[in-house]
Amino acid sequence: MTEKNFVCKECGHTESKVGKIGNSGYDKVKPPGFNAFKMGTSLLITCCANCGEVSSMRIENPNAL
Ligand SMILES: [Zn+2]
Repeated sequence: MTEKNFVCKECGHTESKVGKIGNSGYDKVKPPGFNAFKMGTSLLITCCANCGEVSSMRIENPNAL
């Protein structure tokens, strides 16, 4: 999974990689405060495949917040 037209702002590399936080269910992104009805969502991090510079962070499902 790579981003279209990705260009690293640090090194100019054009290949990106995506990492994900929230696989286990205990480290999900959740709304502030307690809401039993919100399960939370995972966080996707797009970074440069060469140097690791993070270009964007995006939650998987905005409706989960
Ligand atoms: Zn880079």
